Amino acid sequence: MSSPGNSTAPPASPASEMVAPLRQPVSTVWGVGEERARLLARLDIFTVEDLLLHKPRRYEDRRKFLAIRDLKLKEAATVRGKIIAAGVKRFRQGARSLFECVFDDGTAHLHCRWWQAQPWMEDWFTVGREFLVFGKPDSLRPRNIDYPETEYVEPGDDEFIHVNRIVPIHPLTEGLTARVMRTLIWRALEKFENEIAEPAIKLDVKSFPTRSNAVRMIHFPNELTDVEFARQRLALDEFVVLQFQIQLRRKKFEALSKPLPCGGDNRLMKPFLAELGFKLTNAQSSVLREIRADLGGAHPMRRLLQGDVGSGKTAVAACSALMAIESGFNVALMAPTEILAEQHFRNFQKWFAPLDIKVELQTGNRKTVQDAAPNTQRVARGKPSTFNLQPSTLFIGTHALFTAGFEIPMLGLVIIDEQHKFGVAQRETLVRKGNYPHLLVMTATPIPRTLGLTLYGDLDVSVIDELPGGRGSIKTFVRAADKLPKVWDFIREKITTGRQAFVVYPRVEENADGFKAVTKEFEHLKKLLAPFKVGLLHGRLKGAEKEAVMAEFRANKSQVLLATSLIEVGVDVPNATVMLVENAEAFGLAQLHQLRGRIGRGAHESYCILISDAKTPDSIERLKVLAETNDGFKIAEADLKLRGPGELLGQQQSGLPPLRFGDLAEDLHLIKQARALVKLQLDSPARGVN
Ligand code: ADP
Ligand code: MG
Repeated sequence: MSSPGNSTAPPASPASEMVAPLRQPVSTVWGVGEERARLLARLDIFTVEDLLLHKPRRYEDRRKFLAIRDLKLKEAATVRGKIIAAGVKRFRQGARSLFECVFDDGTAHLHCRWWQAQPWMEDWFTVGREFLVFGKPDSLRPRNIDYPETEYVEPGDDEFIHVNRIVPIHPLTEGLTARVMRTLIWRALEKFENEIAEPAIKLDVKSFPTRSNAVRMIHFPNELTDVEFARQRLALDEFVVLQFQIQLRRKKFEALSKPLPCGGDNRLMKPFLAELGFKLTNAQSSVLREIRADLGGAHPMRRLLQGDVGSGKTAVAACSALMAIESGFNVALMAPTEILAEQHFRNFQKWFAPLDIKVELQTGNRKTVQDAAPNTQRVARGKPSTFNLQPSTLFIGTHALFTAGFEIPMLGLVIIDEQHKFGVAQRETLVRKGNYPHLLVMTATPIPRTLGLTLYGDLDVSVIDELPGGRGSIKTFVRAADKLPKVWDFIREKITTGRQAFVVYPRVEENADGFKAVTKEFEHLKKLLAPFKVGLLHGRLKGAEKEAVMAEFRANKSQVLLATSLIEVGVDVPNATVMLVENAEAFGLAQLHQLRGRIGRGAHESYCILISDAKTPDSIERLKVLAETNDGFKIAEADLKLRGPGELLGQQQSGLPPLRFGDLAEDLHLIKQARALVKLQLDSPARGVN
């Protein structure tokens, strides 16, 4: 508070004292009244800070202009000229009208046209006014641009903001011109620049401008090269905030949880590995060493296991489960679909029965668990039970495993298979249920490093980067739909030699989007492929029906399985060597890679055929990525670049805050830097976490 005698201090109102300057409403910027505040709100600009961080969508170098004479066809450029003629042309029907004006800069004339004249145009584009005009000429005789972006060169004091420099063009909304937006940001900078503080975390990065310089530079760079420099600084700040949240969450978890010794003693592991029928790959073994260290560590494990489809994550899950079971704990394994839960159930029963380990299944439609047993007797965590059924049970299920009324006693380890089907929030509630057991999350959707470090930043990461040997290769083809008859011939030929095929469609039933539907194609293919048998699998079947269809296919009683992307995860039928996907453009890249992962599991050559008539360069580009590489990480990165994180992660993306400057597809080095900076800060003893 200023003393009454201090005449230099401005009288501060109590309200503005309460609010940090940058958090004040945007109306504190001169020129923002009620009306403009309303317009700015449409752009999600509510505070001074929002305005200062409103990222330009492009820049114009207005230090010198192109002469209208020098405009080139289809090349975007900015020119500066005075209006020498303007007017509305109306057409006979009265429905359509055209506003046209002609600019002159002393070198040539430029016509600009807006089809569908707006009432305000005649008052705005008046003869004698000077404008900056940006656009792509669509003809040079006469020179013409339709729907250009224009900016009135208003004579006035703040002219220097808008010309003779590199100027920002911001995202706008109707009623708010580029010039007004630029002026408001300029004023906000003048008034608040000194309030833009360095973040609380000491960055100590000399290679970047200060935050306040970066904010000025992102709007009013001296050179265009400054822009990226400034963006990186602001992106780094965003990643630091994000990393801080992530690492703090992890620290809090470590402080709250107690050690839960689950490292095991190998007494079950030894016979298990001896009977497994294959030797673990080096990658599998080294991941298991990491897991064993975690299970015996000072905090419960929080680990993400990434391994491309077919890399053998199930065996790793089995070994991890054995460690916990050897230590006297129960284990839960959760799968995203009933089919996958059933498959695991069969597998694990086969593996674990000889070891006297009980395996129970709990899905929406089937459960082998006796309700009374584990339910009634909750045992204090951490103390092996003496009165319960001996704690050596593996519970397998879908999320039904954790629904009301079912508690697993002595829960030592939770394994979540194919994580990408579960949201971040779901993962959290799951683990809470068990009161901090160890957690192993397995995913076959390779997560680009950037997302791994942000979205999954609170998990340690293991990677299985090697496929078991003895597999046939997979060849991938992209074909137009008119090649289908040949494809069916090819499939018939493969079936004749004893193999099986998957055929995938995007829809269960036909709808307006024109994509093929599995139920309709089934009727057709049954006849086309006779005498071979065709199975039909989709999400609208009942659990028991699905299981019957799968059992038939597994036993090679049906040779072709028609399905929706339901079979994308986990399904393991090594004799199937063909994956045909129709309307491939309807699927994401990562999804197609998963589907392809259903084949190439045996020793035979496998074939993935993607049918698509998509014409857009984008979708063709995407499918080409698949034909060119089998590397899930490369595919995930391509997907991230082509479609953005939202598409890649689906609803999971809810776990990620919006980034204004950070770019998850490009900024790996910044994310790593932020991570290291925050870690340094949080680990320094001076700064306790509570
Ligand atoms: P994913 O990682 O996609 O879940 P799976 O665990 O389903 O892969 O394994 C794919 C196939 O590879 C299975 O048939 C499995 O038995 C087999 N497999 C796993 N590990 C090995 C190994 N080390 N050597 C040979 N085959 C293996
Ligand atoms: Mg799997």
